[in-house]
Amino acid sequence: MEALKTSLKCCLKDCSDSSALDQHVAVKTVLSIENGKSSLKSKFMVRWKTNGEAEFHKACWDQIYLLARARTKQGIISLTKEEKAMIKIAAESAEMFDSFQHIKHAAGTAASWIRDSNQLVVFTGAGISTSAGIGDYRGKAGKWTEEDQIHAMAAESKEPVSKKAKLDADAENDSTCDLEEGVPYEKLRPTYTHEALKKLHKDGYLKYVISQNGDGLHRLSGISAKDISELHGNVFIETCEKCKKIFERPYYVLDDESSQYYEEIEDFGKSHVKKKKYAKKCTLCGLSHRTGRRCDDKGPLG
Ligand SMILES: [Zn+2]
Ligand SMILES: [Zn+2]
Ligand SMILES: [Zn+2]
Repeated sequence: MEALKTSLKCCLKDCSDSSALDQHVAVKTVLSIENGKSSLKSKFMVRWKTNGEAEFHKACWDQIYLLARARTKQGIISLTKEEKAMIKIAAESAEMFDSFQHIKHAAGTAASWIRDSNQLVVFTGAGISTSAGIGDYRGKAGKWTEEDQIHAMAAESKEPVSKKAKLDADAENDSTCDLEEGVPYEKLRPTYTHEALKKLHKDGYLKYVISQNGDGLHRLSGISAKDISELHGNVFIETCEKCKKIFERPYYVLDDESSQYYEEIEDFGKSHVKKKKYAKKCTLCGLSHRTGRRCDDKGPLG
C-alpha cells in the first residue's frame, strides 16, 4: 500500500473545502496537446502540477469530470476546450484513495478473517509490485493508461503521436520527472506487501500464494517454490524442455531477440530482427520463449 499522504490539497481552483485531502481521487493528464506547452494555463480550472498530476476531493472530481463531458455550458465553472480534453484524458488514470479511517476499518476486518481462517490463499497482481518500481496496467503511469493517452493525443492532433513523442512531451512538462521506464528486474526488491505476506506465511496463517506477477518478488521475499503458483511464469526461471529441470538464475532470462522476432511476425507479417539459432518455438507450449542456453542434457532452456 502506498504511504498515506495526508497533506494533499484539492487541485480544483474554486474548491471551498480547504482541509487536507483524506479520501481523494488522483489523476494524471497530458499537459498540452501541442508540444507539451500550454498557452492557456491561467484559464485552467484545475491547478495541474507540472508533471500533469492532480488530486481532488471525490465530489470535486465528479463535478469537473461531469462538466468536461457536458456538451453545453453548465454551472459557474466554464472549461476551455483544451482543458475538457485534458480532463477526459486524466479520467483514464483516475485512482480512488480511501480515507485513513476507512482503510483502518477494512484492515481490521481483513485481520479478523485471517485470524479465523484455516486455509488462507492470496491471489496477487501488478498492484503489489508498483511500489517496487514496476509499472502496472491501469495506474497513473500504467501500460494501458499510457497507450490510451498516446491515442488520445493522436486523435486530438489528427496526427499519429509516437510513444517517444509522448515521453518527450512528458519530460518537457517536468524536467525533474524520473522516467523510470524499465527498472532492471535484478534491481527490484520485495515491497512492504511482499514482506507482510512472507510474515503471514512464516507465522502459519498464509498457506499458499497464487500470483500473476512474473517479477519473482514473492520468491525473493522468501516464499518457497512449493507454496506458490506463478501463473505467468517468473523471469528468473528457465526450464529444460527435455527433462523439465528448473534453473533459478540471478538474472533476467528472457532477454532474447527470438520473442521479438515472433512478435513482429505476428504483428506485421515479417520481421527485421535477425533470427537467432534458438528462435524456435518451445515444443511444450508452442511459444517462443527459448533463452538460447542449454541444460546438461543439451535440452533447450526456456
Ligand atoms: Zn475539492
Ligand atoms: Zn534437461
Ligand atoms: Zn514453453
